[in-house]
Amino acid sequence: MKKRRILIIEDEERIAFWVRSFFVKAGYEAEAIGDGQAGLNAIMDSPPDLVILDRMLPGLDGIAVLQKLRKFSTVPVILLTALGAEEQRVEGLRAGADDYLVKPFSPEELLARSEAVLRRVYDGGHKEITIGAIHLNLETRSCAVRKQPVELSRTQFDLLATMMQQPDRVFRRNELLEAAFDRDFDGYDRAVDVQMRRLRERLEVNPADPLLIVTVHGVGYRFQGEQA
Ligand code: CA
Repeated sequence: MKKRRILIIEDEERIAFWVRSFFVKAGYEAEAIGDGQAGLNAIMDSPPDLVILDRMLPGLDGIAVLQKLRKFSTVPVILLTALGAEEQRVEGLRAGADDYLVKPFSPEELLARSEAVLRRVYDGGHKEITIGAIHLNLETRSCAVRKQPVELSRTQFDLLATMMQQPDRVFRRNELLEAAFDRDFDGYDRAVDVQMRRLRERLEVNPADPLLIVTVHGVGYRFQGEQA
């Protein structure tokens, strides 16, 4: 099988080297570039399968690179952001990132996120997802909670599948509306909240104290990835 190609755009040489070595060790072809414009040129010349893009770059910063990139390419992008403001991460997603990771991160987490994005983009995603006590089968569109089958509406299933395909990622309400409601649905953010409440009633041990579907105030929701 042809090796997947990863392009890392990061000006901090230590991090770029470390990320690149990790991908190579994991069986990928990986290249690191320290400059946004040079990164864009490289993507144009020879499109990689995945781009790891640092948010903080001298000259053209990560968001500007992403905006320019999206004018000519749909290559998946994972944005590396500094610890801090949630708006920064939301800004990245809005600019077209497929996922983001907050520094400092572990190489294992970056690899896991990268594999999830690559699977989603190139293999049409997993057919089955299990996280903690929740099991989803995307082909049969069935759900089991603590091994018991649970009935979900189409919208509820789509909401849950969207979040479970990227555990721990924060989804904005309008992203969830787009992912799970009919296109012509004249929706309000409130509709997402109502469906989330119903999902919690079906999934959570204690819906009043949700541990799986977590509210991120002022932004939206995320599905808790690692569970005790
Ligand atoms: Ca940097």
